[in-house]
Order: sequence, then C-alpha cells, then structure tokens
Amino acid sequence: MERTLSIVKPDAVAAGNAGKIIALLEENLRPIAMKMMHLDRKQAEGFYAVHRERPFFADLCDFMTSGPVVIMVLEGENAIARYRELMGATNPAQAAEGTIRKQFATNIERNAVHGSDAPETAAFEISYFFSKLELHSRG
Ligand code: ADP
Ligand code: MG
Repeated sequence: MERTLSIVKPDAVAAGNAGKIIALLEENLRPIAMKMMHLDRKQAEGFYAVHRERPFFADLCDFMTSGPVVIMVLEGENAIARYRELMGATNPAQAAEGTIRKQFATNIERNAVHGSDAPETAAFEISYFFSKLELHSRG
C-alpha cells in the first residue's frame, strides 16, 4: 500500500475542472484526505523548494499562488507510479491520450495537476499539508 500527494492546480480549479479531475482520481485510487487552499508565497516556495534553482521557479510560484488549489492524498497499490501515469507528461504536448494533463493542461507550467514522484517526496509532500489526524486510511 502506498500514498501519494495530488494537487489540482489553480488553472484547473479556475476552469471549473476540479470535479472532473477528482472523479478520475477516484476511479483509479482511494482519496484519504482532501482540502482546498489558496497558497501564499512562502507555502508555495517551501513546497517546491527542490526546484528553487530552476529558471521557472519564480513563475511557478506566481502560478501556484494565483488561485485556490485542491490538495488530496491518494492511497493504493503502487499509487505513486499509477497516479504519475494517469497525470501524463509534464508538458501536455507530450502527454498520452486519456491522461489528465492531455485533457486539462494548458502548457508545461499550467499543467492542471501535481503528483509526487517517489516515496521520499510523497512522504515530505503529504506531511507538508496534512497532519496524521487528517489522514483517514480506508485500506
Ligand atoms: P512534474 O510536475 O511532472 O513532476 P517537475 O517536477 O519537473 O514536473 O516540475 C514541477 C512543475 O514545474 C511542473 O508540473 C510545471 O508546473 C512546472 N515546470 C516544469 N518544467 C517547466 C518548464 N520548463 N517551464 C515552466 N514550468 C515548468
Ligand atoms: Mg515533480
């Protein structure tokens, strides 16, 4: 059993696509926690700290603080890899047919969803947003 962190990003929430994306997540994995937040600068920078040296870091933080997001913890067998597959490539131009990013992303930055990429990052990201008491294991 594995857990991963999902964020429906501000572009997808603003476009009214959060519900459709959550439905897709629910068909594939078990949501065990969920909240809507409007991240402030510090919260976005802390979340994306691993990318702070990248040229797109400031733009990414502008984008991620531009409106509310929906943050979820998903649980399931092989949840990290399965959710990465369901999301599709970072750049929607390269995302496979049927993936969330193919359907809902605008470009490589405004790409509708976030998903953890490894067990260590999933653990950090889940604890960044949720306390133990907020995680309702349904396994
Ligand atoms: P992923 O979200 O697929 O794990 P990364 O971890 O590499 O991708 O990047 C984090 C986020 O930063 C991406 O989801 C996207 O919003 C943004 N991003 C990544 N690469 C670029 C880029 N070349 N230009 C602009 N934004 C980018
Ligand atoms: Mg990543």
